[in-house]
Amino acid sequence: MKDGVWEQLLEEMESFTAGIREIPVSRSVTPGEVRAELGSRYSLQHPVPLETVMADVSRWLRAWSVHVTHPRYFGLFNPSVRTAGIVGDALAALYNPQLAAWSHAPAAQELERLTLRELTSAIGMDPDATIANFTTGGAEANLSAVLSAIAQHYPEWGRGGVAAIAPKPAIYITAESHHSFVKIVRMTGLGTDVLRDVPTSPGFAMDPEALSNQVRDDIAAGWRPLVIVATAGTTATGAIDPIPAIADTAEATGAWLHVDGAWGASAALVPRLRSALDGIERADSVTWDAHKWLSVPMGAGMFFCRRPEAVKRAFGAAASYMPAGTGEDALDPYLTTAQWSRRAIGLKVFMSLAELGMAEYGDMIDHQARMGDQLRTRLNRAGWLVVNDTPLPLVCFTHPILRSGRTRTDEIISTLNERGRVWISDVTLADGERVLRACITSFRTVEEDLDSLIHEIDHALQLLSR
Ligand SMILES: *Cc1c(COP(=O)(O)O)cnc(C)c1O
Repeated sequence: MKDGVWEQLLEEMESFTAGIREIPVSRSVTPGEVRAELGSRYSLQHPVPLETVMADVSRWLRAWSVHVTHPRYFGLFNPSVRTAGIVGDALAALYNPQLAAWSHAPAAQELERLTLRELTSAIGMDPDATIANFTTGGAEANLSAVLSAIAQHYPEWGRGGVAAIAPKPAIYITAESHHSFVKIVRMTGLGTDVLRDVPTSPGFAMDPEALSNQVRDDIAAGWRPLVIVATAGTTATGAIDPIPAIADTAEATGAWLHVDGAWGASAALVPRLRSALDGIERADSVTWDAHKWLSVPMGAGMFFCRRPEAVKRAFGAAASYMPAGTGEDALDPYLTTAQWSRRAIGLKVFMSLAELGMAEYGDMIDHQARMGDQLRTRLNRAGWLVVNDTPLPLVCFTHPILRSGRTRTDEIISTLNERGRVWISDVTLADGERVLRACITSFRTVEEDLDSLIHEIDHALQLLSR
C-alpha cells in the first residue's frame, strides 16, 4: 500500500484503467454474500484509517460491479469514462461549487453555459433562443419537458394544479419510448390515462400516420394533444422515430414536440450520422444525456428548450434567503430547473470536450458506430439473425435455434454471466419476440472484442442446444 490516500487513489485509477481489459466484466454474487463480507469488517461504530477504507471499497467495487467501462460490456447505455471526465468530477467534489444561484459559482456556471451553447448548436438549435441546463439524467430532463409543456399550454396550472386544467391533455409515446414517461405522468399528477401508445412501423419506430390519426381522433373526442415524444435512439432497439413527420403533426396541432435523444442525440457530433437526427432542431425540447454516449461519469443529463418563458413558469419560485440575481442575462438555475442545490455537473462534460475538441469527440463516437456495423456483419456471417434497424450501434438478434425453442435468451445470458467474459442483455420487442441485445457504448471496444462476443454466444448456444 502506498503512503497517503491521494497516492493510493492515483494508483487505483491507473491500475484499474490499465488492467480493465484483463478483469472479468462481471461476477455473480448474492446480496447475502456482499452483506456478510461488509458486515464482518464495518459497523461504523469505530474509526478506521482512510487508507484502509479506501482499499476495502476499491477491492469490493472491483469484485462486485458489472464493469460498464469494460471493452466487452455490450450492455445498456452506460459508457466507459475518459480521464478528463473523472478529473472534472473530482474537481466538482473538491471545490463543491453551489450552482443554485449564478453569483455563488460564476466560473462553473459560465463553463456550463459555454458547453451547453456549443451542444445546443450541435443539434441545430439557436443558443440565443434556447434555455439549457444540466440534469441528473434523462429522466429529469424528460420530466422538465413535460412540466414546461404543461406550463405552456395551461397557464392556470401554476395555481390550480392538474385539477384546474382543461381540456384533458394527451401525451403520445410508443411501446418503445422510455418508461420514465410512465413515472412522469404519475409524478405530475396527470396519470397514465393521458398516455397514448402510438403503433410502431416494422423497424420499431413510431408510425407517423398512426400518430396523426390518433391526434385527430383525440381532438375530436375533446382531448388536447399536450406532448408528442419522438425518441432518437430507443432503449430496446435504437430505433429513431421519424422526427420531421412527427414535427409536422406537432406543428399542425399545437402539441409540444419533445425529442428524447438521451442516448442517440450524441450522433449529432458525427457528420456521417447527423442526417439520422434531421428535424431535431424543430423540437420544443430535447433530452440528451452526456453520461451515455458522451462518455462522462454519471449523472449528467441535459435539457434543451426553445420555450424559455414556459420553463421559467414551470420552475420559478420566490425565496428571500437566496442571493439576488445579477440583473444581466445570467439565470439562476434554482429558478429554471427542478433542482435547488446543484452540483457542477457540467465540469466533466466541459473538460472532456475541451481535451479532444468536438471533431475528435465525434470520431470517438463514430468509432463505436462502426463497431456496431462490424458486429452486424459478424453476426450475420455466424448464422445469427439481426432483427432491428438502426444506424446506431445497438444490435438486437436471435438465432434459428432460439426461434425453434431449443433454448432461451435468458439461458444464454446466464451462461455468459457465469463465464464473465462479455456482458449483453435480452429484451422483448414490440412484436413480442424475446431477443438478445448488444450495444457498443465503450470507446475501448475494438474488433477483437466483437470476435470474443461472437465466440461466447456461439459457445453458449452450442452448450445449451446439445
Ligand atoms: C436512458 C434513457 C432515459 C433515462 O435517462 P437516465 O439518464 O437514465 O435518467 C430516457 N430516455 C431514453 C431514450 C434513454 O435511453
